[in-house]
Amino acid sequence: VSVFVLDQNGKPLDPCSEKRARKLLARGRARVCRLYPFAIRVVDRKLADSGTQPLRLAIDPGSKATGLAIERVGAPTPEGPVMHVVFLMELVHRGAQIRDLLARRAMLRRGRRSRNLRHRAPRFDNRKREEGWLAPSLAHRVETTAAWVERLRRLAPISELAQELVRFDTQKLQNPEIEGVEHQRGTLFGFEAGEYLLAKWGRHCAYCDRGGAPLEKDHIVARSKGGSDRISNLALACRPCNQRKGARDIREFLKDDPARLKRILAQAKAPLRDAAAVNSTRQALLKSLKQTALPVEAGSGGRTKHNRVRLGVPKTHALDAACVGRVGGVENIGIPTFRAKCQGRGSRSRTRLDAFGFPRGYLTREKAVHGFRTGDMVKAVVPTGKKAGAHVGRVAIRARGSFNVQTSAGVVQGVSWRHCVVLARGDGYAYSWAEQDKGGAKSPASINLNQGGAASSPA
Ligand SMILES: [Zn+2]
Repeated sequence: VSVFVLDQNGKPLDPCSEKRARKLLARGRARVCRLYPFAIRVVDRKLADSGTQPLRLAIDPGSKATGLAIERVGAPTPEGPVMHVVFLMELVHRGAQIRDLLARRAMLRRGRRSRNLRHRAPRFDNRKREEGWLAPSLAHRVETTAAWVERLRRLAPISELAQELVRFDTQKLQNPEIEGVEHQRGTLFGFEAGEYLLAKWGRHCAYCDRGGAPLEKDHIVARSKGGSDRISNLALACRPCNQRKGARDIREFLKDDPARLKRILAQAKAPLRDAAAVNSTRQALLKSLKQTALPVEAGSGGRTKHNRVRLGVPKTHALDAACVGRVGGVENIGIPTFRAKCQGRGSRSRTRLDAFGFPRGYLTREKAVHGFRTGDMVKAVVPTGKKAGAHVGRVAIRARGSFNVQTSAGVVQGVSWRHCVVLARGDGYAYSWAEQDKGGAKSPASINLNQGGAASSPA
């Protein structure tokens, strides 16, 4: 693991190894200035004494979690520079919780408004939303990601940014249906085309509408019947459908379902309407990244996947980020991932309600108990009993002084405040480290476009 290093004035220096950080600390040349993520401050060096190496911060924004990777930019290759991974991070969002909380608030307010009023004339709908307005659950994604980019910039001398902006590169696929570029497996074009097909066919099997299962490319007119490898001759099918169809002609395969046949043939010919497949959150993030005045490279999902498969990198959010943009190689991918989960800063409401809106319990007016607040990262060393041992995690306080500690292994309940020490004050995130094999959530639907029976129609 790399350790972030600041100079005596708090300016970021090149990150160093754990071993070197330990030496600096033991000799009294450095102090620990931050635990999450770990950073030290060297007390006898200034940034001006030594330069810094170029570092790239790459971002793969997702709906549930965003991957971030800091990489040292190395030797150039035709595909892009070789990247040496220095820091991997996964930022877990809470859009769904925000949406639910706001829906609940709206419901309660509506109830309060109409409680003693049988009829209220509808008010004139003159509310306008600003250009580029995002729902709070989406705005939170953009804001927390941008905030972490700022934080990491204060810890490491980041000189460039990269963000995955679109699923597929429309420049590469300019008139993909018309130009007659033939799809080839394993190439960058193949991956861009794969992402394009997923968007075009709505991530569902064209023959049975099944979603979530791995999808394969299917030749609408079989290769043996003279069908081409053009994108307009490709549909997506699940494996059972693809195998049932085999090398048969689509007209024969779907002779009992003429409506579907007609629909598939029409859809295959029609290019994707919203070809850019613009995602407003990603655009908003790019806009806020551009305000850093650092160069920002906008990558495509097709290229990320191409890099990941070509370089044999496992799929996690953070490692996906490491593969964003022009990348010739990725080194040092085995390091643990730093995980920051958005938790919010607690609620102002002091009354907990049950499902019917009746009070279920009351929270204390004071948010702190014995100097601890819910959300603080603590270390609890329990000397005896069933919970004996050291537990590090996010604390949830109770008025009676018996706390719960949320560790990466699970919740440890009923830990006395006397055994706890605050490591870091709550700042709206819960932190943990995830090893590579467990770390990083897998994407829900594994879509293996470039493996397995992609060429299921015999040539
Ligand atoms: Zn199917």
